[in-house]
Amino acid sequence: MKPTGLLEVTAVRRVTPRTVRVTFTGDGLGELEPWPDQQLKLLFPPPGRPVRLPPAGDDVMRWYQTYLAIPAEERPVMRSYTVRGRDPGRAAIDVDFVLHAGPAGPATAWASRAAVGEVLGRYGPDPAYRRSLSTADTLLCAGDETAIPALASILSEVDNTVAFVEVADAAEEQPLPGEVHWLHRNGAEHGSRLLEAVRGAALPAGSVAAWLAGEASTVRALRRHLVGDRGLAKSAVEFTGYWRRSLTQDDAPTPEDLADAAEKLGDSTGWKGS
Ligand SMILES: Cc1cc2nc3c(=O)[nH]c(=O)nc-3n(C[C@H](O)[C@H](O)[C@H](O)COP(=O)(O)OP(=O)(O)OC[C@H]3O[C@@H](n4cnc5c(N)ncnc54)[C@H](O)[C@@H]3O)c2cc1C
Repeated sequence: MKPTGLLEVTAVRRVTPRTVRVTFTGDGLGELEPWPDQQLKLLFPPPGRPVRLPPAGDDVMRWYQTYLAIPAEERPVMRSYTVRGRDPGRAAIDVDFVLHAGPAGPATAWASRAAVGEVLGRYGPDPAYRRSLSTADTLLCAGDETAIPALASILSEVDNTVAFVEVADAAEEQPLPGEVHWLHRNGAEHGSRLLEAVRGAALPAGSVAAWLAGEASTVRALRRHLVGDRGLAKSAVEFTGYWRRSLTQDDAPTPEDLADAAEKLGDSTGWKGS
C-alpha cells in the first residue's frame, strides 16, 4: 500500500461529548494490513484550498523534505493521529479526534466542524513504524484520552493487560477490553490522576512491560517512575509524548523532547519485559 494519499470524509459522529469519530475512505485503505497502534499523519489544507500532497516516495525523510518545500501558504498542516477502526471491505478507516480543552489547534478546529465530503491528506499508516507487541507476563498501559485509539487496538491483541486511562470526566469513558481503571480529572490538573494511580498501583508478579502515551511531561514522569522506582528495564517501557502543554506540534522540540528521542533511538533491543 502507498503510505500517502487522499482521504475523503464519509461520516462524522460524536462518540463522547469531547470525541469526534470521522470515517474516511481513500485509495489503498482496503489493502492496509492490520496491526495494533497504527499511527498516521493527517494533512489539513489551508482554508479554501485543496490539499497539496508531496509525491509518494519510498523514503519518509525525502517525503518530508518535499513536504517542507511546498510554499508556506499552500503547505498543509500536519498532525499525528491513530487509526481507531477499519473496514477493509469499504476501504475505510475511523479516526477519533479529541476536542481538547484550551486553544484549539488546526486539527481540533477542523474536527469540531468536519463534514462529509471534505478531503484531507495522509502519510501512513506505514508498516515501517510497526512495533512488536509485548511478550511480558503483564502489559501495564497508561495514557490520556488521545491514547484511547491506540489502547483499543493494543488491549484487544495482548492478554494480561492492566490499563490506566485518564479522561476529562465519566462521560469520556469508552468500552475497552481487559482490566481498565478509568481516572476522571473532573477539573484536576492534566496528568495528575494518572500519575497518582500508577504510582499507587501494585505491580503483578512476573515480568512487566509498559506502554505509555499522552501529554509529554506526564509520560516522562511515568517512565521515570517505572524505571527509577519500580525497576523496569528501559527497554521494557514503550513511551510516546503525544502532545505538549502550551506547544503545538509545529513548535521546535524542547531539550526534554530531544532527550526522549535519543532514548528511543538508543533502545535497539526491542520491547521486552523486565
Ligand atoms: C503518534 C500519535 C498518535 C496520536 N493519536 C491521536 C488520536 O488518535 N486522537 C487524538 O485526538 N490525538 C492524537 N494524538 C495527539 C494529537 O496529535 C495532538 O493532540 C495534536 O496536538 C492535536 O493537534 P491540534 O492542531 O488540535 O493542536 P496543536 O496545534 O498541536 O496545539 C494547540 C494547543 O493545544 C494544546 N493541545 C494539543 N493537544 C491537546 C490535548 N489532547 N489536550 C489538551 N491540550 C492539547 C497544545 O498544548 C497547544 O497549546 C496523537 C499524537 C501522536 C504523536
